[in-house]
Amino acid sequence: MSPGSGVVVVGAGQAAIQLTESLREAGFTGPVSVVGDEPQLPYQRPPLSKEYLAGKVTADELALRGSRFYTDRNVELHLGRRAVRLDRDRRRLTLDDGTTLPYDHLVLATGARPRPLPVPGGDLDGVLNLRTLADAREIRSRLPDARDVVVIGAGFIGLEFAAVCRAAGLSPVVLDVAGQVMGRAVSAPVAAHFAERHQRDGTRLLLGRAPAELVGGGGRVTGVRLTDGQVLPADTVVTGIGVVPNVELAEAAGLDTGNGITVDEYLRTADPAISAIGDCAAFPDPRGTGRVRLESVQNAADQARCVAAGLTGTPHPYNALPWFWSYQGDLRLQIAGLSTGHDHTVVRGEPERGFSVLCFRAGSLIAVESVNRAPDHMAARRLLAAGIRVTPDDVAAPGFSLRSPLARTAETADRKAPA
Ligand SMILES: Cc1cc2nc3c(=O)[nH]c(=O)nc-3n(C[C@H](O)[C@H](O)[C@H](O)COP(=O)(O)OP(=O)(O)OC[C@H]3O[C@@H](n4cnc5c(N)ncnc54)[C@H](O)[C@@H]3O)c2cc1C
Repeated sequence: MSPGSGVVVVGAGQAAIQLTESLREAGFTGPVSVVGDEPQLPYQRPPLSKEYLAGKVTADELALRGSRFYTDRNVELHLGRRAVRLDRDRRRLTLDDGTTLPYDHLVLATGARPRPLPVPGGDLDGVLNLRTLADAREIRSRLPDARDVVVIGAGFIGLEFAAVCRAAGLSPVVLDVAGQVMGRAVSAPVAAHFAERHQRDGTRLLLGRAPAELVGGGGRVTGVRLTDGQVLPADTVVTGIGVVPNVELAEAAGLDTGNGITVDEYLRTADPAISAIGDCAAFPDPRGTGRVRLESVQNAADQARCVAAGLTGTPHPYNALPWFWSYQGDLRLQIAGLSTGHDHTVVRGEPERGFSVLCFRAGSLIAVESVNRAPDHMAARRLLAAGIRVTPDDVAAPGFSLRSPLARTAETADRKAPA
């Protein structure tokens, strides 16, 4: 792409900042602007529900890059500014202060926002979300006075928050309409292990239960009424029932959206001058499971690298292996691959000392979920990324480890290599 008006990125999160870095690394010399509606330097979200809430890191330590990064690379930041209009014919983006930014290529990296609670009472004081630094600051400032904490949603964020509450001496209640924790994102053995450990450590888990209403007095939340009529006392309610992708700017500009902004395998929308990456992008899964939208640092960063490569002359389809982590108390969950649609699992290791669940679909390994077994996770990432087929029979063989197929493939390659 010629340097002309350059690249404008909407959203100043993980995906946007990786894009600016990768563009400059690849030698792109044109203007690069980033527009973000949050006021502070772009920051990492994962520690918000872990180390930041636990008081182990400060807000400054969350910054993705220091301010020098942007000046050294000549990246123009428009922070605390919202992009409000996209004129595709004239290739111009308008911000909420009237500024107009021309572009040769626009990248939508608008992320997602918390799904609102579909019951009355969500606006009561004490009902909180956990997506932004401002949200986490609010929760952190209230935790010392909290007594009765209810978490709605037993997903990654809800459970991470519950673990932080327990470390602070609280006994949270976590409720979820689903019958297992972490929904369909993990296999049944991993979900069961986490549920058991959370309960053993002092969290009250109410699965298969739904809130009907948040009740309050004097504008403050005092409880959560369930659909069966039971009322859980609550002075603090944190909701974590998933997110909604920020697609409105794209939609208003006539781009195709659904569960995310629709892009092709190169992460381009139907308009060749516009791409979408990260939490907001719905892309064709190279593993053939249909159109997917992923919410992870790996996905945001790798999609940014892919678009930067395309804009600097080395386009390639997006096919990175998805991986993810979640830290809940002393449980370290690491996932390689997507286990969606698995029909068979094999557990290796000991629940108390660390284990991995190998997920198969139609006889092939598609994902590995490791709990306190980091070496398995690293081997699984290499194995799955290399596309080496592993079957349940391979796993049943004596002495099998996730490293053995990699070693076997390397030996075969050595034998085939000309002397
Ligand atoms: C509490 C928490 C814990 C997490 N933990 C993990 C974890 O352990 N591991 C993991 O892999 N992932 C984790 N994630 C997910 C991960 O943080 C996200 O997948 C990642 O941040 C996505 O990056 P993004 O750049 O696509 O979007 P975001 O980080 O959401 O950035 C998008 C930005 O764009 C802004 N924006 C939107 N619309 C506009 C507009 N019109 N104009 C200007 N700005 C706009 C948004 O306000 C936001 O600041 C966690 C997320 C949260 C919230």
